[in-house]
Amino acid sequence: MQNLIDLLKADRAEETFGDKKPLYTPAEAHAEAERCLYCTDAPCIKACPTAIDIPTFIKKIASGNVKGSAKKILEQNLLGYSCSRVCPVEELCVGDCVYNGWEREPIQIGRLQRYATETALNADAKAHFSPKQIASPKKVACIGAGPGSLAFAGVLALEGHKATIFEKRSVPGGLNTTGIAPYKLKAKDAVREAEWIVDMGVELKLGSELDGAGVAALLPHYDAIFLGLGLGEDTSLGATNEAGEGVIGATAWIEQMKLGTISKPKGTVLIVGGGNTAIDVARECAGLGCEDVAMVYRRGVAEMSGYAHELEGARIEGVRFIPHAVITSFVRNEAGALTGAMVADAKDGKAVAGSEKLVPCELCILAIGQSKLRALASALPDVTLDAKGCVVVDGKTRQTGNPKIFAGGDCINGGKEVVNAVADGRDAARALLQSWAQ
Ligand SMILES: Cc1cc2nc3c(=O)[nH]c(=O)nc-3n(C[C@H](O)[C@H](O)[C@H](O)COP(=O)(O)OP(=O)(O)OC[C@H]3O[C@@H](n4cnc5c(N)ncnc54)[C@H](O)[C@@H]3O)c2cc1C
Ligand code: SF4
Repeated sequence: MQNLIDLLKADRAEETFGDKKPLYTPAEAHAEAERCLYCTDAPCIKACPTAIDIPTFIKKIASGNVKGSAKKILEQNLLGYSCSRVCPVEELCVGDCVYNGWEREPIQIGRLQRYATETALNADAKAHFSPKQIASPKKVACIGAGPGSLAFAGVLALEGHKATIFEKRSVPGGLNTTGIAPYKLKAKDAVREAEWIVDMGVELKLGSELDGAGVAALLPHYDAIFLGLGLGEDTSLGATNEAGEGVIGATAWIEQMKLGTISKPKGTVLIVGGGNTAIDVARECAGLGCEDVAMVYRRGVAEMSGYAHELEGARIEGVRFIPHAVITSFVRNEAGALTGAMVADAKDGKAVAGSEKLVPCELCILAIGQSKLRALASALPDVTLDAKGCVVVDGKTRQTGNPKIFAGGDCINGGKEVVNAVADGRDAARALLQSWAQ
């Protein structure tokens, strides 16, 4: 069996970060599990996109049955381990816990889920991921090895079917490996989770980038194909002097930081954007010890789309805000190195002429969105895209207009959370299993 963790470099900048929500000790987990009221019609279950039976898994921790607890989580969500660490629980299950209504500390569902899955899977992953042997397995192909494809491949592999994943990068896990803030989940933990799924007998072809023609050529050889492509390149500003060293897209910068080393810039780092990726980058720069981290946003701080709890975290960590501002051009020296950005006041999100001021900086990270991978999907027969460039699927089965092609995750929703991609992959696999059973 291939040891996927060996694919990662040893000296990764992400290792600088500690764990924001460390693994509970058995005593801590037991005490927290005992606080759960095991509500009937539990609101926390309804708030989970994979509908994990939260009170039941918590009850099993309280009774000392950690293996049973992990089983309960994984039967709904095969990536329950990474979800326990990366889900914005404050906005999902924890945010809906009944304790909030009494202004008492809600149950720490994510940390309990991490305790159950990490403890049980580290002890014996095979006990949870042991596939059935069946006489006539079907063959499926997944494009991309992110959470959506891993969930799809895993659910089918457990039922005895053969899944092959084609991944363009040299490591599996998608953004779980290359994009998630390291104080939530490090690359090695994401790769370890991918390895648990691959060890079920899933074939993983790394360094295999397919275009539309390549995917279409697979169609006659597989019973179904799942598109788990995610999103494309970081969007650029289109400002003067933008192209060149020192101005970089957010996901590209995060990937460098998570999988390799980066050089820490002197002075101010400017982060453009107000969403969760922008906040993550700002907190990562602050955590790496950058002297001054400033978020440039074209509207007010209250209008930033990032989660309020993440924004508050950034503020506490010393990130400052330059609201109602836009970068109109970049300044470079004769050698082409970035020396600053011209920042203008913004009214209704647009630059006010003549208001530009120079902000010296060596690094500017753009977190203003990612493009859609339109070309691949639109080259496939009967697969359609909506006006935003997202792949159109049936809301229940995740089937595209082509009965053999399914899709899920960021490529259908334009960019949500890991748990949504997992729900899509699982639901597509369940729909296929049902159709094969008929
Ligand atoms: C910076 C950042 C931070 C985030 N933080 C969080 C968080 O804290 N919590 C959370 O829940 N969500 C977070 N998200 C969102 C989450 O990561 C995504 O919603 C999720 O990873 C989507 O899963 P996916 O499987 O659809 O796509 P991805 O994870 O993007 O995986 C797609 C995979 O497909 C591969 N691929 C693409 N094209 C091809 C091709 N042509 N051939 C072969 N392979 C291909 C890619 O290399 C990639 O590995 C974050 C996103 C970003 C950008
Ligand atoms: S809402 Fe809170 S107390 Fe009720 S079952 Fe869910 S976690 Fe337990």
